[in-house]
Amino acid sequence: MGLKDIEKRIDQALKKDRPGSPIQPVRLERDSEFKFRCYPGISCFTNCCRNMNIILTPYDIIRIKTRLGLTSDLFLRLYTKPEILGITGLPVARLLMLEELDGKCPFVTPDGCQIYTDRPVSCRYYPIGIASLRQQEKHAGEEEEFFFVVKEEHCKGFEEPTSWTVDSWRADQEADLYDAMNRGWLELILRKRSFGEETEMPPRARELFYMATTNMERFRKFIFESRFLDTYIIKETVLKRILNDDVELMKFGFNYLNVAIFGAESDIIKLKPEILDKTVKQIIKKRKKRQKRLERIKKGRR
Ligand code: SF4
Ligand code: SF4
Repeated sequence: MGLKDIEKRIDQALKKDRPGSPIQPVRLERDSEFKFRCYPGISCFTNCCRNMNIILTPYDIIRIKTRLGLTSDLFLRLYTKPEILGITGLPVARLLMLEELDGKCPFVTPDGCQIYTDRPVSCRYYPIGIASLRQQEKHAGEEEEFFFVVKEEHCKGFEEPTSWTVDSWRADQEADLYDAMNRGWLELILRKRSFGEETEMPPRARELFYMATTNMERFRKFIFESRFLDTYIIKETVLKRILNDDVELMKFGFNYLNVAIFGAESDIIKLKPEILDKTVKQIIKKRKKRQKRLERIKKGRR
């Protein structure tokens, strides 16, 4: 289950127990217990690896394309499809399931997941779903994280006696590492979501977002082979770190997108003063022009 499904279904699932819904309408905390075991040999082995809506996170993409020895370009072309993530309007990469093979995941084999140690974070969390809600009252504006169980009929893992807490399951699945790596990306998504549907993203900003969150080779080229370094001031140590390291580049990308799309401040990347000056002047000029046009329209009406 991907972020998009969760967004759509979590509210309803927590309100009432809908017949047929795989989401148990029970909110779990980190110490909540559940029984589950998944292992080769269980009767449903790999039944869940089909028709999944898996949105790949930036860190998922780096891990899988490295595992397969592919460039990001080739990996994205062969295994994913871009799509827009709900009301955020942000582009993300969805893992393609194989229609010709009954909706199977391209990485599933009779022996299990071919990329098991590098599988996406949503496969790691399964059967636990993670969601966040914007707090309304006491801590207005803060996101509150919670968990729920996704209990699908075909999954026999729930009949096994092994007990977990949400935390012990997350530790077993290396979810902490993935969550830490994906935090910057999720913050960008939540930030954009908080603006609502009305604030549409210009196509150029959307392209930048997709490039910097899915394609490290292209993003690196954009930084080192375009006029990027004439526009931004970036510390030498940071430049050295991102030159060959995809994970460092991904983290830098989250900072860059915050600055370029949301106008946030960052310690590691800043607009050059002369570019900032130029941008401010352009904005003022545009506003004055718009103001004059409005005044002309008003006069014409009188
Ligand atoms: S990536 Fe692996 S675990 Fe995830 S759906 Fe595909 S085969 Fe299953
Ligand atoms: S259906 Fe459930 S128990 Fe069976 S392989 Fe998938 S996760 Fe494991």
